[in-house]
Amino acid sequence: MRLSRYFLPTLKETPAEAQIVSHRLMLRAGLMRQHAAGIYTWLPLGFAVLKRIEQIVREEQNRAGAQELLMSTIQSADLWRESGRYDDYGKEMLRIRDRHERDLLYGPTNEEVITDVFRGCVRSYKDLPLNLYHIQWKFRDEVRPRFGVMRGREFLMKDAYSFDLDLDSARHSYNQMFVAYLRTFARLGLKAIPLRAETGPIGGDLSHEFIVLADTGESEVECHGALLEKAVPEGVDYDGDLQPVVDAWTGLYAAADEMRDAAAADALGDTLVRARGIEVGHIFHLGKKYSEAMGATVTGPDGEPVTVTMGCYGIGVSRLVGAIIEASHDEHGIIWPASVAPFHVGLINLKTGDAATDAACATLYERLGPDRVLYDDRDERAGAKFADMDLIGLPWQVIVGPKGLAKGVVELKDRASGAREEVSTESALARLV
Ligand code: ATP
Ligand code: MG
Ligand code: MG
Ligand code: MG
Repeated sequence: MRLSRYFLPTLKETPAEAQIVSHRLMLRAGLMRQHAAGIYTWLPLGFAVLKRIEQIVREEQNRAGAQELLMSTIQSADLWRESGRYDDYGKEMLRIRDRHERDLLYGPTNEEVITDVFRGCVRSYKDLPLNLYHIQWKFRDEVRPRFGVMRGREFLMKDAYSFDLDLDSARHSYNQMFVAYLRTFARLGLKAIPLRAETGPIGGDLSHEFIVLADTGESEVECHGALLEKAVPEGVDYDGDLQPVVDAWTGLYAAADEMRDAAAADALGDTLVRARGIEVGHIFHLGKKYSEAMGATVTGPDGEPVTVTMGCYGIGVSRLVGAIIEASHDEHGIIWPASVAPFHVGLINLKTGDAATDAACATLYERLGPDRVLYDDRDERAGAKFADMDLIGLPWQVIVGPKGLAKGVVELKDRASGAREEVSTESALARLV
């Protein structure tokens, strides 16, 4: 993409309304604009990152055996009356009435809709286990939308729902998502720690929040320091026994907010880490709460009806854009992990109009691939170009000017470390293709 034609409305000034660094940088780097409180328009650069995150989430869900579908954003209130949640959900739910005076709502979550799909389509235990997910916009009328996309009212969530015949099988489905989450967040360049979370009236130990440590997080976290160093499992066999992997992660103390345990924390002494964190995912064993209320049963092996056991698994896809920036930035701007970067390379032409420089840039642009390169071909001062490129945080910069070209070199800059190297055009290409 040529920057001269790219819709990238960056800001010079720091927007006063933004209290945390990710919010400031998302506005300054032209990733999004606020439309109304907690509601955003994603501009091309921000949308590109959002789609990359979404794709990584999707790949890891698929790998773990979940299947993607797409449920609507608008839901019928009748289903929520069946589960008993219509009145309980309160003011966070955006309620709508259509022209026929029927009650609708903009989905804040999808347990009712997926349970309705399940009961209408699945008859036999032979079709279990089943895990269905979608990546869809949600609306929650948060009391205090703030911190940009971190706590929006409209936000993008991946939510998966598992259906099993019994508790053992439900635990395996839970473990599959637990491991998929570890892998997903690692691929996004994040250290996300699973913490025991409140299970509500169902009880048990099958609820974990995945939290990224950051000073601006809204959760107060305590955990064993070793959790921050733990390597994420690779080459996982999702059909095999995942319990040892899950146990290795859950055996160490880690809790947030009201789940904290003073005795457990004190016992850790110096190995205890106390920090703030951002909730990026949450997995939850639901038991039969929805299947019982809504009659989701299958015929079991002995011919008798069995009410299925469910689980639900959320990831805050749009919140992750902010969380990644909180975890990866410096005083100059964003530093995208390569896996989610909107472009791999920023190509800077130091002297547009100079025939040799234009030609060298054109070659690099073509050979690196216009989809992977943001080419700053604007007629601007070098300083402004450097500042903009650092602000938007692409992993690599290639800086091309007449002086270097006279010596047969271009400059290659690693955005994360700031290290600069003079290399030939050919070796720059070899490193970046
Ligand atoms: P929070 O504690 O931050 O309000 P939650 O516990 O209400 O989140 P869940 O119902 O567990 O959220 O939803 C699954 C995921 O969706 C969360 O882990 C979070 O990453 C994301 N999420 C929830 N609310 C918002 C929001 N208002 N804006 C952006 N992402 C959100
Ligand atoms: Mg909430
Ligand atoms: Mg929460
Ligand atoms: Mg939660």
